[in-house]
Amino acid sequence: MTTDTKQDKLEQHSFQAEVTQLLDLVVHSLYTNKEIFVRELVSNASDALEKLRHTQLTEKEIFDESLELEINLTTDDTAGTVTIQDFGVGMTREELIENLGTIAHSGSKAFLQALKEGSAPVSDLIGQFGVGFYSAFMVAKEVKVYTHSWKNEGEHLVWSSDGTGSYQIETVEGQRRGCKIVVQLKEEDKDFSKADTVRDILTRYSSFVQFPINLNGERVNKVQALWLRGKNEIKEEEYTEFYKFQAKAFDEPLTRLHFAADAPLAINALLFVPKTNMEKMGFMREEAAVSLYCRKVLIDAKPDGLLPDWLRFLKGVVDSADLPLNISRETMQDSALVKKLNKLLTRRFLKHLENMAKKNSEDFLGFYENFNAFLKEGITTDFAHREQLSKLLRYESSTTDKGKLTNIAEYVERMKEDQKEIYYYFASNRDVIEAGPYLEAFKANNLEVLYLYEPVDEFVMSHLHEFDGKTLVSADQSEIQLDTATENESEPLSHEEENKLCEWINEQLGERVGKVTGSKRLVDSPAIVLNADKMISPTMRRMMKAMQQDVAANPTVNLEINLRHPLVKNLYSLIEAEADLANQVTQQIYDTALVAAGFNEDPRSMVDRIYTLLEKLTTR
Ligand code: ADP
Ligand code: MG
Repeated sequence: MTTDTKQDKLEQHSFQAEVTQLLDLVVHSLYTNKEIFVRELVSNASDALEKLRHTQLTEKEIFDESLELEINLTTDDTAGTVTIQDFGVGMTREELIENLGTIAHSGSKAFLQALKEGSAPVSDLIGQFGVGFYSAFMVAKEVKVYTHSWKNEGEHLVWSSDGTGSYQIETVEGQRRGCKIVVQLKEEDKDFSKADTVRDILTRYSSFVQFPINLNGERVNKVQALWLRGKNEIKEEEYTEFYKFQAKAFDEPLTRLHFAADAPLAINALLFVPKTNMEKMGFMREEAAVSLYCRKVLIDAKPDGLLPDWLRFLKGVVDSADLPLNISRETMQDSALVKKLNKLLTRRFLKHLENMAKKNSEDFLGFYENFNAFLKEGITTDFAHREQLSKLLRYESSTTDKGKLTNIAEYVERMKEDQKEIYYYFASNRDVIEAGPYLEAFKANNLEVLYLYEPVDEFVMSHLHEFDGKTLVSADQSEIQLDTATENESEPLSHEEENKLCEWINEQLGERVGKVTGSKRLVDSPAIVLNADKMISPTMRRMMKAMQQDVAANPTVNLEINLRHPLVKNLYSLIEAEADLANQVTQQIYDTALVAAGFNEDPRSMVDRIYTLLEKLTTR
């Protein structure tokens, strides 16, 4: 930050460009929900008290040691002010500049973007993106922040600004520890200097704050830890209100899990799944947001390692009486206790999803539609929970209707007696899969195939490898042995003709192909390419290439030809009569089969050949 002028005691600073931009939007937009500035300032006061409580655990020298950990609001409707005071950590001069003059975290850009797009009301976005302090400028002519840091050597300061490009910092002797924020209201917002208005706002938004809140000397909140109370005594609205408070959300949660356990750990947990998946909406990666408490005292609001990474969409609170109060962020992740908590919470939450799927399948499908990417991430990254997660997977299949999902356990129940493997096939959608050649033999043999539409699903299958002891196999695997398809009754080429044709095709295609054989699995299509590489499917190959990984340019594929197909039979007669044309037809059959398999990596030579063939066809 630049210091524009420096007089004896007064410093003039200009806001970071992003802040000016943000304030400009905040000051000049129209709001329906200005009152949330109270919530934001109270929530900052509460954060500051929480930090102080932590600081007290390790620091001996605390300024104004004897002050209570509480929040005091005062209103003055003659002066048109509302004041929020806390005895928290306060701020030094550097901290004032850093915290109230810049937006440090990465969220600010996303916030400005969301604001400009108008995707949600400003009041909803402010808390979510951690720019709450600036919301005071929705109603303020001027904001003053009187402060003294918990550090003894800190100065007595006042920060002030009218929300346009700059702010001032002055020294003013006689400050208590913490912050006292005086909001000088605009004429049209004077209502917020009335006690009744503010009391009403506090009951609506701040009843879950874990410190006493007083309004003009009178206590307004009961400090309560909802998560420690019995499920039966909690009303639905209380849960919803708590969720909104805790998750900074403005709608209801999609589902919640509230439970208590004594063994192996004493724990009370209240977890929520939000309605929307912010990552799917294109917002930044979610951060851990399940707070860790020990007997109502906040240990860490965003503890890493309390839950596996793939559960980062969860909100809520976990309270464990077994945790040491002074556990630090650094030791948290390695702590054996936290690992135990992680295991217990993950198991319970997965169990909750399983129950939901059983008892309330519609709700579960709603959850699945929004959050399946996280479950799939779990399967590919979290070995310990892979099996439990695999039960939650849902896919369309050749036996479901379009848009209806089945799970793999149900698939297993439907398996034919002699069927040993579970089949799946990946393509962009149902029509592509059903129109392609891969399903023909499975259909003819009455074998179910799961339909995968997301590239990540192939990774999921290869990580899972098996389900219920049965191997998961892609329908384009060369090694699958299928019975002869019988629907097409026309006479096939003889065994001798087959050998001759296959050998000839092999010569024409040379290095482009692996093995060439007569097919048992084809009904209507003349040919099919099969993946000889068990590990890497066409999609995976494309993704690996996109990630600049080293994969062979051309996959090893085998070609199978349909010995009953007229085109193949014609080709056989052509190899002696018109070898040149037969070669081009062969190349084209092969390329077309590659396209059907998703291997069309270089279509140029194919395009030229199609024109040549068309020309031949039309000059006859
Ligand atoms: P957030 O609370 O999400 O960090 P805010 O815009 O609400 O974002 O606040 C910005 C920062 O200003 C806080 O992170 C904190 O460091 C500082 N701050 C705000 N209010 C107080 C306060 N009452 N006491 C101490 N620090 C505060
Ligand atoms: Mg805040």
